[in-house]
Amino acid sequence: MTMDFKPILPATHTGSPIIIAGPCSAESPEQMLETATRLQRQGVRIFRAGVWKPRTRPGGFEGHGKEALQWLDMVRRRAGMLVATEVGTARQAADALEANIDLLWIGARTTTSPFAVQEIAEVLRGTDTPILVKNPVCPDLDLWIGAVERLYLCGVRRLAAIHRGYKVPGETTYRNAPLWEHVAQFRRQLPQLPIICDPSHMGGSRNLILPLSNTALSLGYDGLIIESQCNPDQALTDSHQQVTPETLSPLVATNRAHTA
Ligand code: PEP
Ligand code: MN
Repeated sequence: MTMDFKPILPATHTGSPIIIAGPCSAESPEQMLETATRLQRQGVRIFRAGVWKPRTRPGGFEGHGKEALQWLDMVRRRAGMLVATEVGTARQAADALEANIDLLWIGARTTTSPFAVQEIAEVLRGTDTPILVKNPVCPDLDLWIGAVERLYLCGVRRLAAIHRGYKVPGETTYRNAPLWEHVAQFRRQLPQLPIICDPSHMGGSRNLILPLSNTALSLGYDGLIIESQCNPDQALTDSHQQVTPETLSPLVATNRAHTA
């Protein structure tokens, strides 16, 4: 199927490479605003935070849900950033659209389910919100491409992919192995689709964020989505992989250099 995509946002809004950063989870208005202010000071223009957290096993913090969409709105108004969150169900997509969230992403577990992607795609029909589609948890190119096609067939044109790596048995270095060569095949099949690297869920640890980001940029990736928050050690989710906003300074400098 031939697809003709539109840019997710004008380059003047995103910078190049596109840098999206923010906490794994929206935990409180204070955590959101302090993180956003510090990221904004670094030059980050797009803020991410999960309000519905897809936990692999039940029992942990599952996000503050709809209430936290208002905190994203506060970040938009007070820090002047664009805001992004994950949607995993049709209801969540409808709530996020109603709250005018600027960008939405579909998480790795959700991309794995054609039913869930289809239901979300139906809700997005007729809207112009940019959608970022993470790779599925397993290395199945068709599932990932199929998710992009389902959205496209519902009229979504502002699309990009997020490469966050794959669960591979026995893997020890990475939380989710990058499998760069496998993803190169995906890129060859959809050469017009922008691709953003998520070194946080790939590496699973702070020391891997910069090297993975640099590898992705050297491979011509269009951007990065990185988990960062004001107090990484106290994070309720994914604490080991979150970095302070100031840690992102060398990466955002690349972004500034490209847009200067
Ligand atoms: C996230 O971005 O916080 C997340 C849950 O990611 P993934 O779907 O890659 O596990
Ligand atoms: Mn996370």
